[in-house]
Amino acid sequence: MIRKTRLFTPGPTPLLPAAQFAMAAADMHHRTPEFRALFLKVLAQLKVFVGTQNDVLLLSCSGTGAMEASVSNLTSPGDKVLVLTAGKFGERWTGLAKAFGCDVDVHSAPYGDTFDLAEVKKAIKPEHRVIYMQATETSTAVRHDVEAIAKLVKGTDTLLVVDGITGLGTTHFDVDGWGIDVLIGGSQKAVMIPPGLAYLSVSERAWGAMEKSKNPRYYFDLRKERKNAVKGESAYTPAVALVAGLGAALDYIAGQAGGDLEKGRIALVNNAEVNAAATRAGLVALGFTLFAPKAPAAAATAVAVPEGMDSGAVVKALKAKFALVTANGQGEMQGKIFRVAHLGFFDYLDTIAFLGAAEHIAKDTLGLPVTYGHAVAAAQKVYAEQAK
Ligand SMILES: *Cc1c(COP(=O)(O)O)cnc(C)c1O
Repeated sequence: MIRKTRLFTPGPTPLLPAAQFAMAAADMHHRTPEFRALFLKVLAQLKVFVGTQNDVLLLSCSGTGAMEASVSNLTSPGDKVLVLTAGKFGERWTGLAKAFGCDVDVHSAPYGDTFDLAEVKKAIKPEHRVIYMQATETSTAVRHDVEAIAKLVKGTDTLLVVDGITGLGTTHFDVDGWGIDVLIGGSQKAVMIPPGLAYLSVSERAWGAMEKSKNPRYYFDLRKERKNAVKGESAYTPAVALVAGLGAALDYIAGQAGGDLEKGRIALVNNAEVNAAATRAGLVALGFTLFAPKAPAAAATAVAVPEGMDSGAVVKALKAKFALVTANGQGEMQGKIFRVAHLGFFDYLDTIAFLGAAEHIAKDTLGLPVTYGHAVAAAQKVYAEQAK
C-alpha cells in the first residue's frame, strides 16, 4: 500500500505548506528594504506569539544557540547559577553553564517527573544570578509549572531563564506578568518550519545584567542583535528563507482566529492540549503506561512499553509499516519509552491516524491483546468532550 511520510517527532515537526511556499519564494538579499520590512513584521509578530512587551530577538541557529546566548550574555565566570533539571534538556543547561565557567547548583527531579515546589524553594539561594529551566522537558514529555517557579523568584535579584522551545505554542505563558526574563523558542517546533531559527524574549533586567557580564561573546552578542533588530536587520546574514517561512506560519496561526495572532496562539495551545489528551487516552486504552502521568506536556507524549519490550521496535515498526516517524527515548530512556508529538501543525485527524497505526503495531509487533478501534474510540471520546 501507499505510505505517506508523517513526522510525529517533537522537532522537527511537520511543515506548513504555506511556509514552504514562502521559503521557496524568498529570493531576497538581507540588506534591502524588502527584507527589512519582512524582518520587522516577523519580530512584531513574535512579540505577540511569545506574549510580551519585552524585546524579542531572532537568531539564525538551532534552539541550543539561544540557550548558549542566555548563558554567555548573562553570566560571568564564577557566577553561581541554579539549574532545574528533569531530563536531557535540563542537563544541557548544566553543560552550557559549566562551559562558560559558572558555579552550577543543580536541583533535579527524576525522569518522568516534575519538581516539588517546596524543594525548589529550598534550592533557590540569593546568590544565584540566574535560574535555568525548561517549560516542557521534551526528553520525558513533562510540563513544569513555570508560573509557580516564577512566583518563587519574583522580587529577588535572580534572573529566570526558561527554555520554552517546545513550551511555546503548547502551554500558556504570561511572560511579563510572571516575570520571565528570557523565554526561548525554536523554529522546528510549534511554528511549523524547518530547523535553523531560534527566538528569545529579553527583559529589561536581563539587558542590565548583560552589561555586567564578563563572558566572551561574538556571534551571540545579544546587545549587537538588539541594535540591528531596531533597523530590521541582524548582525550577520540571517536565514532569509526561514524568516519568510516564519512570517507565513505566524500569518497562518493568526488566520486560525480571524487574523488575531494572540487568539491564534491560544487556539494553537488548545489544539495541542486536546491532541495530547486524546493520544494519552488512546495509548492507555491500548495497554501502554504513560511515562509522565503527573504533569504531562501538551507538546509531546512519552509512553513506556511493557517491561521486557523494546520501544525501539515500536519506533522502527511505525516507520517501516506506515512511514510514521516517532522518537525513541534519549539516553537511559532509550528502548524504554517512545515519544509522539502534538506541537505545531498536527490536527485531530493526525491523532486518529497515529492511534490507528499504534493499534496495529501494538498487536503485530508487541503482541499485546488489541481490540481494533479501542484506542481510536478513547481518543474520539476526548475529542467529543474537549474540542471546541
Ligand atoms: C528541541 C529542543 C531544544 C533545542 O534543540 P536544538 O537541537 O538545538 O534545536 C532545546 N530544548 C528543548 C526542550 C527542546 O525540545
